[in-house]
Amino acid sequence: MERLSKPTVHSALFVALLLTFLWAQPLYAQQGGAYTVAPGDTLGAIAVRFGVTVEALVAANGIEDPDRIRVGQVLLIPGADGTMSTSAPAPAAELPTAVVRAQAGDDIAVLAARYGEDPRLIAELNATTATHRLFPGQPVRVPARSAPPPRLNLGAILTIDAPDSIVQGRTGRLYVTTTRPVTLFGRLSDQPLHFIALDGQGLGQFAFVPVNALQEPGVYTLEVGYTTARGVDLKRTFPVNVVAGPYGYQEIVVTQEKADVLTSDVVAAERDRVVAVWSQYTPVLLWRERFRRPISVDYPTTSPFGQRRTYSVADIGNFHAGQDFGAPEGALIFAPAPGVVVLAEPLAVRGNAVILDHGGGVFTGYWHMSEIKVAPGMRVETGDVLGLVGNTGLSTGPHLHWELRINGVAVDPMQFLEEPPFETGE
Ligand SMILES: [Zn+2]
Repeated sequence: MERLSKPTVHSALFVALLLTFLWAQPLYAQQGGAYTVAPGDTLGAIAVRFGVTVEALVAANGIEDPDRIRVGQVLLIPGADGTMSTSAPAPAAELPTAVVRAQAGDDIAVLAARYGEDPRLIAELNATTATHRLFPGQPVRVPARSAPPPRLNLGAILTIDAPDSIVQGRTGRLYVTTTRPVTLFGRLSDQPLHFIALDGQGLGQFAFVPVNALQEPGVYTLEVGYTTARGVDLKRTFPVNVVAGPYGYQEIVVTQEKADVLTSDVVAAERDRVVAVWSQYTPVLLWRERFRRPISVDYPTTSPFGQRRTYSVADIGNFHAGQDFGAPEGALIFAPAPGVVVLAEPLAVRGNAVILDHGGGVFTGYWHMSEIKVAPGMRVETGDVLGLVGNTGLSTGPHLHWELRINGVAVDPMQFLEEPPFETGE
């Protein structure tokens, strides 16, 4: 075997190191953007460093005397084609970002289109221009929201797309893809999650991640995995930041007449009754669309979900677990989505009550009705009448209290008027 001479080894090493260094440099370190003048800098040296002409620097910065630049002065560096990456639409500096790799033939605009982002934003994040060409494999910064989750080597699990943060009382979504159908398990802190198939093949699954409105803000651990045929748990954990919700405070004063019937035994027995109902689990999701409002838009919210509350009687709870719509007695209450009636009866605190099971651990409740129009076991469709607004139970005036529970956790039902149960992708 031929023996390499030392200088050859050295230069080979040097070239390899240099290539590694150049390859690993993020785009923004090489191209365009802004540059702060350092001691010893000249306009000519800066132009060479960024591969632009002195004339372009002078024009871009309105410099009067090219021989007089100051240490600390911030210069705009035009892109290689002489244009500036100006008027980016978003405060890019505040966006969480991720690094992706360019593909053959990419420029910033082509790459931005692939991730569904504005090319000006991608250009700004990388301090370059939209027409800047990229070499295959080159690292490019994109908003984390549009970057694909990294491919995992976790047995049958291909990807896990976990939420970074969830607001108190809101519901996050967790998406998992696998190479074959597997039974996934998951939990956020000590709250178990249920996985629901996204397609007939069972290769895509998702889980609702409901967060209690009173969950202390902070970082919690989300765990996802499955048990192999040999009984080994393959799992990953992800940090999820629980963020404080915008919830106010209200004190509810109850008349003595209503308070008298609400002994702690009555309150506790009723709680056990409804908890038993929404602790059930139907593994099929019965709806695909955004929810319809359960009452006419003529009747606005009078008390939003999540408000911290104290009651003048009994141990009713310390926050508002639903959304109240003020409406006259007799106003119609509609099913917001397909479901099955799993409770329809008078209760002491909740009054005449209906609970629908929408599948996937999701239940909606309707309290204080003057009249119930459905019966247990009935299948309802979106817009079917469930009952009439009333003032029964622990209520201080005619209104609909609308509640949504996922795996037993009360979350903001209004989120489901805005969003379908899951994202379908393209
Ligand atoms: Zn209410």
